[in-house]
Amino acid sequence: MKSFWVVSLSLWVGFFTVQCQAKIKEAFTVQKVAPGLYFHLGNHELPNRTNHGAIANIGFVVGKQCVAVLDSGGNREQGRLLKEAIEKITDVPICYVINSHVHPDHIFGNRSFKENGVQFIGHKNLARALQARAIFYTQRAVEQLGINLTLQDIVLPDIAVTDSLTLDLGGRILAITAHGSAHTDNDLSVLDENSQTLWLSDLLFVEHLPVVDGSLKGWLKELKGLSRLQVKRVVPGHGPVLVNWRAALQRQESYLSLLLREVRAMIKEGKFIEQAIAEVGQNAAGQWALFDVFHKKNITFVFAELEWED
Ligand SMILES: [Zn+2]
Repeated sequence: MKSFWVVSLSLWVGFFTVQCQAKIKEAFTVQKVAPGLYFHLGNHELPNRTNHGAIANIGFVVGKQCVAVLDSGGNREQGRLLKEAIEKITDVPICYVINSHVHPDHIFGNRSFKENGVQFIGHKNLARALQARAIFYTQRAVEQLGINLTLQDIVLPDIAVTDSLTLDLGGRILAITAHGSAHTDNDLSVLDENSQTLWLSDLLFVEHLPVVDGSLKGWLKELKGLSRLQVKRVVPGHGPVLVNWRAALQRQESYLSLLLREVRAMIKEGKFIEQAIAEVGQNAAGQWALFDVFHKKNITFVFAELEWED
């Protein structure tokens, strides 16, 4: 009898896993942003046991000699689906996987691309950030995402970008920039010079509330520099590709400036973090997806950042 229940349970678990995989597969499509540049649009969801952390925008650029992957996905399976999508579109080999930053929804598909001839590229601070968070991230993946993620899924960069790096994919140049601490302390952006498309990843959130995990003041500074760029379109880390991208950048800047202003004022008045969480920026609720979860986290982060400033 016991074996009956074990078999039944394992059949159900197996059925559930197949259902989840089918759901991911069904949802996985790539769109052409410009000739040779493709992206998969993520959903505005928290990472959970249904989406297994596959929620961010990911994509790739095809040159004459090389393909560069722009973030590998939120888990091994999504990485594999992205790889399949690339192989359907081109025979050109994958030479590079560019990791925009440390967050799991962007880079936990890395292992599906790990083979000879593929080089992983990240910000000079990425390796340190990955090492610091590896155990936490792998434990959380098992508990919250229901996926078996091990330390082997943490792929450290082969090439670390200190300021900037130019990649030639064969008739196609990618200009990679390592930014100062902003969304995280290891953000890269990638400019595809051919199509004048700027892959901003989580330096820009569209619709989804911006999440501060590096430096609020640093992010505002980076946004000033980005707003001066002349590019045709941008790809955010979450939300649609934009041609009229300056408005989205300003919208994000307004939210981050509001955090800076209001949290700073509360600290000057000697108020505590609990009051800040209850009062700061409530007018912005309803304007962003996932506001309730990430706004509180942002205030907590920003309070710590601003508490000791002169
Ligand atoms: Zn992120």
